[in-house]
Amino acid sequence: MGLNIIMLGAPGAGKGTQADVLAGKRGLPKISTGDILRQGIKDQLPVALVAKAKMDRGELVDDDTMIAIVRERLSRPDVNAGFILDGFPRTVDQARALDRLIDELGKGPLLVIDLVVPEEDLVRRLAGRRICSKCGENAGPDDGPACRRCGGELTQRPDDREEVVRERLNVYVRSTKPLVDFYRARPTFRTVNGAQAPDLVARELDVTIDDAASVGSRAGMGA
Ligand code: AMP
Repeated sequence: MGLNIIMLGAPGAGKGTQADVLAGKRGLPKISTGDILRQGIKDQLPVALVAKAKMDRGELVDDDTMIAIVRERLSRPDVNAGFILDGFPRTVDQARALDRLIDELGKGPLLVIDLVVPEEDLVRRLAGRRICSKCGENAGPDDGPACRRCGGELTQRPDDREEVVRERLNVYVRSTKPLVDFYRARPTFRTVNGAQAPDLVARELDVTIDDAASVGSRAGMGA
């Protein structure tokens, strides 16, 4: 049975970073809908260019577009052993569509991880975040102008400016937090404390995934 993992949590909770670590460790593809959209903008894909205005304002892209992107991505063979979804679902309608898709594709159960970080830490983390324009590595405000991994230029994501960060957090509370209630009752739902050093978060996440997976396979259900 595949390890089908969803990472929930506010913007800035560390979902992307932890999903990368986990993907490397478990040999699973990380599927970040934000990365897919940003790549689409670079490639000048019409659907992504339409989404760009919303992204730049910190608003959500419409459900139909996002569900179509994920449907296409989960139909590829590299997800047979599982996947890590980062940034999807972000609304209850997306979560319902994902359940249907998982059913249709004969996958399951979903392991749902909520990475929890207090709100006051999130603005600080996001507004200080820098991203390598070449390789996408995350960095902080004290890292200087160059990426420690590849030497590329560190830049700020347009939607990490403080006023947009506040809007993204509002959107999270309004649209995405209800997801936690949607999933909470499932036996494969778990929270992880994201307010620790990244290697400690990674360790807690690792143990938590194994625990949720064993419950999921015992239950043998599309949890
Ligand atoms: P992220 O990199 O996950 O923070 O996503 C960046 C931006 O892409 C978000 O602020 C949204 O505008 C858009 N986006 C990414 N994933 C989704 C999604 N599942 N639903 C709606 N919008 C999304």
